[in-house]
Amino acid sequence: MLHPYLGIDIGGTKTEVSLLSLGSPQTFEDYTLLSRKRCPTDRHHGLPSFLRNLNALIEETVRDANVSLGSLKGIGVGLPGSIHPEIQTMVQGSIPFFKSIDLRAEFKNALSFEGPMIFENDANCFALAEANFGTGRTWATQNQIHPANLCLIGITLGTGVGGGIVMNGELIRGRRGGAGEIGHMSLRPADRQCYCGKSGCAEQFLSGPGLEHAYQSRARPDSSVSGKQIFARSRTNDPFALASIEAYKDDLLQFLSNLSNLLDPHIMVLGGGISLEDQIYEGIETRLSEGCFLTSDPPAVLKNSLGDAAGALGAAYLAFLEAQSLKGSM
Ligand SMILES: [Zn+2]
Repeated sequence: MLHPYLGIDIGGTKTEVSLLSLGSPQTFEDYTLLSRKRCPTDRHHGLPSFLRNLNALIEETVRDANVSLGSLKGIGVGLPGSIHPEIQTMVQGSIPFFKSIDLRAEFKNALSFEGPMIFENDANCFALAEANFGTGRTWATQNQIHPANLCLIGITLGTGVGGGIVMNGELIRGRRGGAGEIGHMSLRPADRQCYCGKSGCAEQFLSGPGLEHAYQSRARPDSSVSGKQIFARSRTNDPFALASIEAYKDDLLQFLSNLSNLLDPHIMVLGGGISLEDQIYEGIETRLSEGCFLTSDPPAVLKNSLGDAAGALGAAYLAFLEAQSLKGSM
């Protein structure tokens, strides 16, 4: 029997809709992907236009799996920004038309959906999905850690740098949904200006564009090269690529050490384009133990296993938890 939930991952460049069947109504066990669609995120024509496009994508997704919108048990939405957990508004984020509106009311109205609906920061969705279905779950099983005790930080190293914190199995959101905004923790205070208004933010050094900037400043300023190409060039001993990656890893270690000293997780799961490069992981745990207050048994630093499906899965899982809690409170 299907228990269909919809997970929506709205990113800065693309929007993904996944239709999933999650466990049974009483117990959560596993998930089955029924259908998945994606389209570019239209961020330039306002909220009504965005919601019209999203509605069409959702209709296509559910129709493909022969599921009706009315039979959905819940919808979860991941967004690029801090979402206030109680009032479900975006306090801060990169797509202006989502800010300070009643997200639940606007989406429910536009999608004609009356069931449980929840909004969450996209990196939080990533961390939650990896903790429950991905690398975190595999690691916990192998190390005989009960999921309810797992402490995990999800860190996305992509166009930007995001973070999600799962402590003892629970997502940590903070007062206004701002917990885990680790991309704007300061790494080098007097360096590079960030779009957020401060300077020296981790995102300026640890994102893909941050690495590209580091390479260009060493090589030719006009050489446009992607993060992936920089890693490829380092394997052919390009000295600028090698130096850029070494500096990147020094910054990453500083960053992960700070996070480890603050939260003492079992595991840190990396996501985003840079997480796919094996060089990032070489020697990292040994060096991490040197940078942490607790020098023995450093946290494991591992690649994600769900890829870019994690965001929508985490959002759908939150909708599942929301539906269960609403049922419990009735
Ligand atoms: Zn910043």
